[in-house]
Amino acid sequence: MTPIRLFVKSNMENDTSESTRNVGSAKVLSGRIFVFSIFVGPASDPWKPADVERQKQKVVEAERWLKMQALRYGKHVEFENCAFGSDGSFIDNGMPESSRSVGAYFYPGKMLLKMGYRSFDAIIEWVRNNTGCTQCLAIVFTNTYGRSFACHVNKELYRYNPHLFCLECCIIYKGFGPDYEESGAATIAHEMLHLFGAWDLYELDEEDSVRAKKTAIMFPKSIMNCKGRTIWHMQIDEITAWLVGLREEGKDWYRWFEPHQEEYLCV
Ligand SMILES: [Zn+2]
Repeated sequence: MTPIRLFVKSNMENDTSESTRNVGSAKVLSGRIFVFSIFVGPASDPWKPADVERQKQKVVEAERWLKMQALRYGKHVEFENCAFGSDGSFIDNGMPESSRSVGAYFYPGKMLLKMGYRSFDAIIEWVRNNTGCTQCLAIVFTNTYGRSFACHVNKELYRYNPHLFCLECCIIYKGFGPDYEESGAATIAHEMLHLFGAWDLYELDEEDSVRAKKTAIMFPKSIMNCKGRTIWHMQIDEITAWLVGLREEGKDWYRWFEPHQEEYLCV
């Protein structure tokens, strides 16, 4: 499926109209944030309790890291967690194989509705009324392999339909790559950051990309750029800090690093 992302030309300095900051259910990386973890597996390979437990620990590790990174920029963030399908009872054979497959974008939201919520608005309202958190996001952990991705809400989507595009979610696959390496805390934190507005700072095609070469030099430790390293060797770089609301002031050159809108998809 073509990524749902509309091209909007910036019209002022530091304009983040394409960014997802301050939009959707995950606005900025500060305050109290409620995290839904939903475990879904195919009938042939449902989640096993020990694997679920390991994923939950990774979520906690990602949150601890985000909390420490936010503190580096003087912001406080707290997370509250809840999980569904931990016993392996959520079965679905129609899980998306990649972000480009039909329905992938709406898959996490669909799972939440299956849990009994009336609408995305109702989920967000429930969080606000019952948890003391002002923001929320959902992570679907699928017991299949693929490249994890984020279904963030940007201003254009929100304007198009604020009831359909409000709840921010991501899908974390069990693993990815030729060796089926298991997704770690770094992948979870990376996708969560997309929901707060972060851009990818890596390129899928690194060979001919000037941007990829620049980001490798300027942000070698950025979680939006790093691959295959432990989360504790990574950082939130200054552009990402600005995009997710940890830094108030942006710099004009930040915009140079914005991924090309027409081809961009958060993975
Ligand atoms: Zn990404």
